Amino acid sequence: MKLHFLGANRQVTGSRYLLEAAGKRIMIDCGMFQERRFQSRNYEQPPVDLNTVDALLLTHAHLDHCGLIPKMVKRGFSAPIITVDPSADLAEIIMLDSAKIQQEDAKYKLKRHKKQGKKAKHGYEPLYTTEDAQNAVALIEPVAFHEPVSLGDSITATFHESGHILGSAFIEININENGEQRTLVMSGDVGQWDKPLINDPELFDRADYIVMESTYGDRTHKDSGPIEDQLADIINDTVQRGGNVIIPTFAVERAQELVYFIGQLANADRIPDIGVYLDSPMATRVTKVFHRWCRYLDEEARCNPAPGGGKGADVLRFDGFKLVSATEDSIALNSKKGPLVIMSSSGMCTGGRIKHHLKREISRHDSTIVFVVYQAEGTLGRIISNGAKEVRIHGQNWPVNAKIAHLHGLSAHGDRDDLLRWLSNCKTPPKQLFLTHGEARGAEALSDVIENKLGWNVSVPEYQDVVELG
Ligand SMILES: [Zn+2]
Repeated sequence: MKLHFLGANRQVTGSRYLLEAAGKRIMIDCGMFQERRFQSRNYEQPPVDLNTVDALLLTHAHLDHCGLIPKMVKRGFSAPIITVDPSADLAEIIMLDSAKIQQEDAKYKLKRHKKQGKKAKHGYEPLYTTEDAQNAVALIEPVAFHEPVSLGDSITATFHESGHILGSAFIEININENGEQRTLVMSGDVGQWDKPLINDPELFDRADYIVMESTYGDRTHKDSGPIEDQLADIINDTVQRGGNVIIPTFAVERAQELVYFIGQLANADRIPDIGVYLDSPMATRVTKVFHRWCRYLDEEARCNPAPGGGKGADVLRFDGFKLVSATEDSIALNSKKGPLVIMSSSGMCTGGRIKHHLKREISRHDSTIVFVVYQAEGTLGRIISNGAKEVRIHGQNWPVNAKIAHLHGLSAHGDRDDLLRWLSNCKTPPKQLFLTHGEARGAEALSDVIENKLGWNVSVPEYQDVVELG
């Protein structure tokens, strides 16, 4: 039995593994590499013979876990893609959106390079197209949590809640090889406990081998007080000043969490009756998936069972809240009288409708821009968040007069203590724990903590390492 590490090794994107066991070849995740210095891997020949793969198990729908599937399909991959019901719907939205971006980027690059007399390293063909993404979607076979899925006579895979985003799973793979029974647990991404919308991560009590993410392996989340209190302060302060609240957000998960928290404040009259808009076609589609699969949400957020009660997750509906999808409805927000709360994507302000809202609001002294997601180096969001006095948006300079605020505590990833808690029910040490999906520093720091605290064997594999699992 062999495990190939094919991405998210000593970095955080491009999750991809190949398991060879009991005569089968099974991939786990196939994500896009998003850090600039690793992006060329997206174009390389895949390090796996795609025709020989029997199945792909998908832990969850984030782009860094599913974003290269259409590329594999373009190259001839045709095995079933097995994932939990909500992840099937979310992966469809995310892969189709990514295809659109790939096509637009390729076109834009060609135009720009023609002007500049440059030549692109990987040519001008999009990484994949909408058709490739649609073909990938057709291969998805949704399953439920906790139902063992048979992958031939000797292997079963069971998906368990990992508490990261809607439908996110860790996968327990049981293998019977040469009369010996082995269990491999693949963590996917592990979330935090006690989140309002998403269930707590489930625990497991034994495994021979564990592969675990380590995104926040060397950090604990700063406690900045309850999210509701932070948000209430920001919104009330902005309303008093007469401005609007603008929140750049991810379309998946973060947007729905914000809707939940603002809804709680509105229902409890902790903020005045004002218009609250989620202005993003993708976030609108994702919110509908939350309604459709609300039975997968945390107990307090599930469908309202009362007669006459709403259909779907009522915690994602409240008076004054509207989903905005059509372009003309987005433009119509410009003429609405404030104060308003407008959530829009992209979360790091690198594109999309948020840029239009920023242009209108960023120079207003009475408005507030609220950062709720991590802002990567070099993004417009990072520049504003760092306190720039002037920023360039759509080719024009804008003075930054708006108040800049940060909302802490909304991470979808567990911190070091959450990761240790996730392992805590495993009473007998595994033969080996592999740490992936984290920068080398964080993964190694976590490796030291686990070795010292639990006395387990821990390693941090390199890209394309292959290990024999005995
Ligand atoms: Zn994730």
